[in-house]
Amino acid sequence: MTDDPAQLLTLMQRDPEAARQLLEANVGQLAAGNPMMAMMMQLMAAQRGQRDDAVAIRRARVDRVRTQLRDLREALGNAHELLAELAAALGACGDCWGELDDCASCHGRGGPGWRSPDPELFDELVAPAVRRRARIQPKEGNTE
Ligand SMILES: [Zn+2]
Repeated sequence: MTDDPAQLLTLMQRDPEAARQLLEANVGQLAAGNPMMAMMMQLMAAQRGQRDDAVAIRRARVDRVRTQLRDLREALGNAHELLAELAAALGACGDCWGELDDCASCHGRGGPGWRSPDPELFDELVAPAVRRRARIQPKEGNTE
């Protein structure tokens, strides 16, 4: 135990947890001979335990949100990648699909067929749907 407040202050700045433990030990010695002080120490310890529990709950919540955010960013990145491939397969503007008049790439003219479709991506992503549609069209009585 140090009786020197300057030493205690130095310890608090250098190692707050060690200073807290030292203070707690000193107050505990004082409380040994004073039932009122002992009761106050118990109340303070209980309050600190509640705060520690609340902090642990908040940290767990923050960790869950961070994990969800990371998963969402990954899913968004995958969706953007797929959308860019589909735009290339259809010859559409990958920035706006022709939806934005102020698009620097297409000035709003970049809908499907705006430019030549990427042949490999067209074969992979679009041709199977075109073939399927051609097979089912007659059954639906489509006159297009
Ligand atoms: Zn565009």
